[in-house]
Amino acid sequence: MSELLRATGLVSGYGRIEALHGVDVSVDAGQAVTVIGPNGAGKSTLLRTLAGLSRPWRGTVEFDGTDVTRWPAEQRARVGLVFVPEGRHVFAGLTVEENLRLGGYAADRAAAGLDAVYDLFPALVARRRQPAGTLSGGEQQMVAIGRGLMSRPRLLLLDEPSLGLAPQAVRLVTDALVELAVRGTTLVLVEQSASVAFRVAQRGHLMERGELVASGPVGRLSEDPRVVRAYLGGP
Ligand code: ATP
Repeated sequence: MSELLRATGLVSGYGRIEALHGVDVSVDAGQAVTVIGPNGAGKSTLLRTLAGLSRPWRGTVEFDGTDVTRWPAEQRARVGLVFVPEGRHVFAGLTVEENLRLGGYAADRAAAGLDAVYDLFPALVARRRQPAGTLSGGEQQMVAIGRGLMSRPRLLLLDEPSLGLAPQAVRLVTDALVELAVRGTTLVLVEQSASVAFRVAQRGHLMERGELVASGPVGRLSEDPRVVRAYLGGP
């Protein structure tokens, strides 16, 4: 499989506090990769650095062989490296469909059809003219993912899609992510929930205190004592 994303030696932080201490990670085309770990480990910082929302102090991010380290998020999104924020960041005053259409404008490529998004999230069909701010947390998360898909991403970066959702909504969102992964969508999923992460991804990394301390196929990673410990210490 060909490598689509490669981050090398990422060091980043806030003020004088270093949050990433030299992270290397790569993602092959068609692969679903997860980064799990306890609160404050640096998972979101890593994802935001890959997305271009945070500039690393040192290190590089390459996307499809191009050094994009200094590219802002919008420029990365245009070439298919797309960040999906937590669902509560949808445009509350716009309808579901308006939110989705906005995603289609972010890309250089032709937008995906709305049908493909409604196919993945049938629950949104009846709500297409409803302001997104009136949706449940799970439905808002579906809109956020759907908006990302509208740009026909080559790689989706997902930030804790299960966070704060009711169990039923977690199941729906997870099923959709599994479906995307099975179809061969390349994605990086940052999660605190091991059950979500391990259902969706083929490979995973455990992050602790700004470093990737264990990596491998999710079957093997789920048996790693450090992973078990991280989850016992989780939310
Ligand atoms: P969580 O799941 O709780 O979001 P995380 O693994 O995603 O955790 P990060 O949010 O990346 O971890 O945080 C890594 C470290 O950087 C933590 O010590 C955190 O306190 C710190 N940090 C994160 N965002 C900021 C910020 N905006 N300003 C200052 N420090 C921050």
